[in-house]
Amino acid sequence: MVEKRRRCPVSPCPAELPQGLLMCKEHWRQVPKPLQAGVNKAWRHLRRVLAGSRSSTDALREAAGAHREATDAAVQAVERQRP
Ligand SMILES: [Zn+2]
Repeated sequence: MVEKRRRCPVSPCPAELPQGLLMCKEHWRQVPKPLQAGVNKAWRHLRRVLAGSRSSTDALREAAGAHREATDAAVQAVERQRP
């Protein structure tokens, strides 16, 4: 069995995440607004590509990569704010 539950990626945050959430609410609030918008936009795009029956593998890879980059930037922004 694969453990589906994920933890908040901002270490050492112990919060467990429901599926679909990038990080816990506490940390998400610390993500600068432009980065939040970037994550949301990348996520919407990825979902559209995933839902599209004619989406090519390249489009999927690109959308997934863009989403990964946006989320990484958000996590890094939060970690940089820590004392
Ligand atoms: Zn957290």
